[in-house]
Amino acid sequence: MSTATLSATTQSVKRSESTSTLPSFMQAVVVHGPEKYVMERLPVPVPGPGEMLIKVEAVGVCASDLKCYHGATKFWGDEDRPAWAQTGITPGHEFVGTIVLADDVAEAHHQVSVGDRIACEQIVPCGECRYCTRGHYWMCGPHDMFGFRNFNGAMAEYLVVPIRALTHRVSHELPAAHAAFAEPLACSLHAVERANIHFDDVVVIAGCGPIGLGAIAGAKAKGARVVVALDLSDDKLALAGKCGADILLNAGTSDVIAEITAMTDGYGADVYIECTGHPSGVKQGLNLLRKLGTFVEYSVFGSDVTVDWSIISDDKELDIFGAHLGPNCWPAAIKMIESGVLPMDDICTNQFALNDYQAALDLVSDTAGASVKVSILP
Ligand SMILES: [Zn+2]
Ligand SMILES: [Zn+2]
Repeated sequence: MSTATLSATTQSVKRSESTSTLPSFMQAVVVHGPEKYVMERLPVPVPGPGEMLIKVEAVGVCASDLKCYHGATKFWGDEDRPAWAQTGITPGHEFVGTIVLADDVAEAHHQVSVGDRIACEQIVPCGECRYCTRGHYWMCGPHDMFGFRNFNGAMAEYLVVPIRALTHRVSHELPAAHAAFAEPLACSLHAVERANIHFDDVVVIAGCGPIGLGAIAGAKAKGARVVVALDLSDDKLALAGKCGADILLNAGTSDVIAEITAMTDGYGADVYIECTGHPSGVKQGLNLLRKLGTFVEYSVFGSDVTVDWSIISDDKELDIFGAHLGPNCWPAAIKMIESGVLPMDDICTNQFALNDYQAALDLVSDTAGASVKVSILP
């Protein structure tokens, strides 16, 4: 469809300078099933009333993308939990792009203009369920998500932003891959919020992938007395130090529980934020926390976790908190990236062209590898 047809059929759609050259077709990755993500040539979508079209600049590849890529049912069990990645959908939820088409309704609703660069929260809340109406939008019942359910994600050149999406403006000054880090960083900050950190706390963050690194920066920003980073990779621990961790412990080569017991006069850590995605990270946390300590679980796991549940009750009376997505943390995450406090060049280790999406997915699959945040720049 030509741009002339676009403006003729869509009332009050504004066109930026660049949309005069808006192409008719685009490249997009489409989910055909587990491990079958196919590049297709599709018409550039036409936004309906209240919707916007963005030109995607960057999309991060997330561990959750890989779980879906390898077949979510393999991990989550059909009967127990729903698989989220739909066939026919374009994956990719950690994105940033520039608005190229928007009508007055969309601009007023999102308080943006054509030409603005925006990031969108991964969840597209229904606005009507009990969670949404009570302000807990990130737990929205239908749980529509960009790139997983009912809304195409950003492994494509263009993406439609529905009116229900939650949008945030991001500075054009940032490199695109850095700007797209707003999504995982908001998630990290939410995990930190759940931890109710106090000034005197020794906070342990397990796992120095993108979520753990953001949690380290968040725990420092909250004023924790000591932030301890745990990982199996010395390179990732070095990066954790650049993100603000005070103490770096390699869980493969040091006795983490003994070290933390020693640095806390024998009591144990006050807070543990689990970002490893490995069952051993749960057991480790229960064992290194002090009595009345706080455990925050952010990871998702590929298999069931078995632990001595009595540690939570009888032994230590722990507070256990789950955390999902990054509600109410996006402005802080974007401000943190824009402030330059994070070593973004070191965090955003790999960028791929859209055509090389398979290489990007494979790199994130290689969890033992050196990559941290892998991004695709369509
Ligand atoms: Zn993500
Ligand atoms: Zn809802």
